[in-house]
Amino acid sequence: TWGQARETLQTTIGKNNYQTWIEPLTFVSCEGGVAEFGVQTSFQGDWVSRNFGDEILRQFDKLGAPVDRLKFSVQAKRPAAAQPDQAPERFTAKPSRSYQITDDSVLGAPLDKRFTFDSFVVGKPNELAHAAARRVAEGGPVSFNPLFLYGGVGLGKTHLMHAIAWELQKRSPELKVVYLSAEQFMYRFIQALRDKQMMDFKSLFRSVDVLMVDDVQFIAGKDSTQDEFFHTFNALIDQQKQIIISADRAPGEIDGLEERIRSRLQWGLVVDLHPTDYELRLGILQQKVEQYRSQYQELKITDGVLEFLAHRISNNVRVLEGALTRLFALASLVGREITLEMTQESLADILRQSDRKVTMDEIMRKTCDYYNVRMSDLLSPKRSRNIARPRQMAMWLAKQLTQRSYPEIGKRFGNRDHTTVIHAVRKIDELKAQDAQVAEDAELLRRMLEA
Ligand code: ADP
Ligand code: MG
Repeated sequence: TWGQARETLQTTIGKNNYQTWIEPLTFVSCEGGVAEFGVQTSFQGDWVSRNFGDEILRQFDKLGAPVDRLKFSVQAKRPAAAQPDQAPERFTAKPSRSYQITDDSVLGAPLDKRFTFDSFVVGKPNELAHAAARRVAEGGPVSFNPLFLYGGVGLGKTHLMHAIAWELQKRSPELKVVYLSAEQFMYRFIQALRDKQMMDFKSLFRSVDVLMVDDVQFIAGKDSTQDEFFHTFNALIDQQKQIIISADRAPGEIDGLEERIRSRLQWGLVVDLHPTDYELRLGILQQKVEQYRSQYQELKITDGVLEFLAHRISNNVRVLEGALTRLFALASLVGREITLEMTQESLADILRQSDRKVTMDEIMRKTCDYYNVRMSDLLSPKRSRNIARPRQMAMWLAKQLTQRSYPEIGKRFGNRDHTTVIHAVRKIDELKAQDAQVAEDAELLRRMLEA
């Protein structure tokens, strides 16, 4: 059974996590509802238990294995240079099932204890979203309703939503705060339909004080679910109940979203989380290291390594965390300071991924697609606005996203002079500050290219 469970884990927790944490586990036994694994360090056991315990149990459960607890025992299997004659240390860990914020276990999804305002690092790219989330979390007279948070993967949308929920719950325990993903909403809805429990479903959802629906792009195109969502949404707004929604795109860009929903979503406050910048990434890394160090003093990572990671790893915070996680694992195994060299070696795959350079060609093609102009026009001498603007945008993007010089960029755009490129870059920078549409175009294109 463990073999099968392992198989699935590879996809559910991701290959990197799998290789770092699951593969090194040795299966010891499975008796009386307890599955026992051998680990090399207590750190490893603790980590697996805390981060993947629930998922492992879920897999056992799916396979019908009678396992309700996991146990990790440190085995002195390796000729451990770090801890020579330590007796095998034993400990058991029951994965803390993150608890339900509502007493109504049918409704919400569990909240992650780690996702609080305290652990959220604020920087330029997310300060607006953070401020809005804070405001909503203060409760009181409904301020922004709905609050619509959007941004790319791994930029902290779910983190902020959970943080709001924790905070609201702390301030006003009597509030019925429900957090769930759009997918779960759909699932509940379909279940209610099937079980002929629509009345219950409706009254349940209409009785909440704060409703949070994560990744709402998921229900785009799912007509009946959208319909129900819309009714729930309206009913709650009419009762002045707070609604918080997240998506990976702005409401206007979610294909298959009904117009009436789209416009309703835009009634409140729409804020986006921008791709992280260097400072924010470094801040996040430092905070995570701090956190782990308070538990595992032996961790030694220099600032140089962190700066390197902040520079080299893409803007998805989840990837950043994954890299750090692997370094921690490495640190716990080797028991000495993590050097830059070790970092480069052990993170080679992640670094390669993040290194993916945007090419001039991609920039030109995406820009043409976006503005619906022909490549030949982009390269032509034509100067009409509907072609000149996309051309300037493409040049601006080339300057932002590649290492090319002005003359090099000019050359690629139908042999133009470098001053033309300089002018274009300046023009777009100016326009971005004055014209929301241009700012949005630039942001979107950049995101599409960096994705
Ligand atoms: P999203 O829902 O936008 O895809 P998440 O909220 O799941 O992203 O964030 C991905 C991971 O990155 C989480 O572990 C989260 O805690 C972390 N994270 C994202 N942004 C921040 C931040 N500003 N400070 C600290 N951790 C962050
Ligand atoms: Mg999310």
